[in-house]
Amino acid sequence: DDLPASPKTNIKIEYQQLPETGYPDKINAAFITLARNSDLEKLAPTIRSVEDRFNAKFHYDWVFINDEEFTDEFKKQVRTLCSGSVIFEKIPEEYWSLPTDPSFDKRKAHNNRMKSREKMPYGGSASYRFMCRFFSGFYYRLPAISKYDYIWRVEPETTLHCDVNYDVFKYMSDNDKRYGFTISLYEFPLTIPSLWKTVQEFITLHPKFLNDNNLMDFISFDEGLTFNLCHFWTNFEIIDVNFLKSEAYTAFFDYLDKSYGFFYERWGDAPVHSIAVALFMDKSQVHYFNDIGYFHSPMHNCPIDDEIWTKNHCMCDQKFDSTFKSFSCTGRFYDVQQLEKPLGWEKFTF
Ligand code: GDP
Ligand code: MN
Repeated sequence: DDLPASPKTNIKIEYQQLPETGYPDKINAAFITLARNSDLEKLAPTIRSVEDRFNAKFHYDWVFINDEEFTDEFKKQVRTLCSGSVIFEKIPEEYWSLPTDPSFDKRKAHNNRMKSREKMPYGGSASYRFMCRFFSGFYYRLPAISKYDYIWRVEPETTLHCDVNYDVFKYMSDNDKRYGFTISLYEFPLTIPSLWKTVQEFITLHPKFLNDNNLMDFISFDEGLTFNLCHFWTNFEIIDVNFLKSEAYTAFFDYLDKSYGFFYERWGDAPVHSIAVALFMDKSQVHYFNDIGYFHSPMHNCPIDDEIWTKNHCMCDQKFDSTFKSFSCTGRFYDVQQLEKPLGWEKFTF
């Protein structure tokens, strides 16, 4: 695997080493959370929920990243909630700023951003674009993250609805799963006018990266002619870090980045990750967690299978489950993967 050169900037890493838990099969994996200091109040209940539902049994590390230094108050609060080692890392500036190449047109980026203010969520935001580009191409290059095999992304204000009584990382590792998701949706087309064209150019240049057993049918209704806007919602994401570090993904991100669509448009990390996963992975490596109850406003993954819901002490209303609703792509994922839908799924389509 080609690990891109790590940044020259000084990075401060702080470790909180906790006693070994005695759990023998622990995978080389961690949670990661990007947050601002001001997110603390909304983040604390989220950590609590992940710990109560899962991590109190397994004690995986948790890496917190920020474009600014975390405050002492933030660190103190987070440390007392996490049951594994806690790592804080500041993002180097070159991972959170405009491209510096001479061919990048700052004025165009600014003008397009101003024009998109009213047209789409976060249309006028510069920092949101930094965030999306960071999650598309840079986070996995941070030394504190690149050392892991799997990363589970957690966002402030999200909730785990159900107990997770098995080691999800080990499940992925044992079953050769490289990507796990809970919710999938259709992207706002105005955020990515030229993304698919750019992807097609990349594939034409590098056909060898296309997996023979790919998931193209999940992201396209017409065998790749157009993008159907289906994407995994990356605010929850469990991903194989070695996939991100692979030649295919790195070349893919670099190609997209050089077209400046993260700034001239408002490309999200969700369509970028999803397209890469769909095209470069074997489709058997992509896993939908029907048993991990999850909430990120306004979408729920709430197991509609009563056995799962009851056994895992879920705390969510099954009628709000998004899986088979018209705005979700997960029904299509079932079809493309030829998975058996849970009994009575038709009752949860609206
Ligand atoms: P949404 O889910 O697309 O509506 O975007 P969010 O506002 O939830 O942001 C996604 C993630 O990035 C969250 O974990 C935020 O805390 C984090 N985030 C967004 N903008 C910034 C920023 O400017 N600085 C930092 N440190 N984190 C940010
Ligand atoms: Mn969010």
